[in-house]
Amino acid sequence: MSQFGTVFCDAIAVAHYRDGAWQEPAIEALAPLQLHPAAHVLHYSSTCFEGFKAYRWADGKARIFRLDDHVARMQKSAASLVLPIPDAQMLRGMVLDIVAHNIDEIPAPPSSLYLRPTLIGTLPNIGAAAAPSTEATLFVLTSPVGDYFTGGARPLKLLVEDEKARSTEQLGSTKTGGNYAGALGPTLAAKAEYGVDQVLFCPNGDVQETGAANFLLISDDEIITKPLDTSFLHGITRASILTLAADLGYTVSERNFTVDELLQSVGQYEAALSGTAASLAPVGSLVYKGKELAVRDGQPGPNAARLREALHSIHYGDAPDTHGWLTEVG
Ligand SMILES: *Cc1c(COP(=O)(O)O)cnc(C)c1O
Repeated sequence: MSQFGTVFCDAIAVAHYRDGAWQEPAIEALAPLQLHPAAHVLHYSSTCFEGFKAYRWADGKARIFRLDDHVARMQKSAASLVLPIPDAQMLRGMVLDIVAHNIDEIPAPPSSLYLRPTLIGTLPNIGAAAAPSTEATLFVLTSPVGDYFTGGARPLKLLVEDEKARSTEQLGSTKTGGNYAGALGPTLAAKAEYGVDQVLFCPNGDVQETGAANFLLISDDEIITKPLDTSFLHGITRASILTLAADLGYTVSERNFTVDELLQSVGQYEAALSGTAASLAPVGSLVYKGKELAVRDGQPGPNAARLREALHSIHYGDAPDTHGWLTEVG
């Protein structure tokens, strides 16, 4: 399958906010957007997005994973940027409609359909630097994607960055474009200098997350990750893995930990990144102050594999959906 995020279904769901209200959403042919060059988003980054997946089962129907949680997170992101907040029922309906419309283009397991709702401020006013965009467009783009682990994903190498932050206290938990643009410079520099895959941002020694995934430590009986605060993105994969870990009898420790503790832990603990795209990807080594340190023996660990399997079993209906995470379409 082609590279993640480069192939799209030929229809999108679109809704516009005008004159203080959301207009009726529609399904349209995928085409370039008409945007005024003064559109708020182009100058003042009034934009947020979501990312989640629909899976097609052998019965021909699709199942969307944690739809309502993603809708709620998008509303939270929109609110934090003072964008018009999409009505939950409307956004939910747009996602259901576009998945139903594109259902035949959902590849067979272990591939899936990636769903990318995006909200942009379209008010044509470059004088509105300190004013919200009172016009907006919401669309749901869909992209058939392959399985991250096909061909056996190699364990990741992370740079431990203990000074720079990925985002800010205010916007860390908002899924907004500027955060990714901001993380790009440090990430490209780290790739060039140390050959790492990602940067683990740990400002002032506080272990937070990478550019687009949460970070977890896992042993045979415990899973550790930073507790929710506004400095990092509240991953729904993270939340799902913690719930499944508790179901399987692991102690779930949501607590802050420092770079020093991290470096001491990786002799015994596995490390992994969580997010919709990669689900739960093993970390094989850390680079800190120019030195590379293996996470355990540097190989993918059994506990991360077990938790990832538990998650995938729910995605594809091989295990019962005891938490009510799936929405059926078709
Ligand atoms: C989207 C994202 C995640 C993962 O969120 P999921 O809901 O698990 O896909 C983690 N960190 C950042 C910065 C993200 O943008």
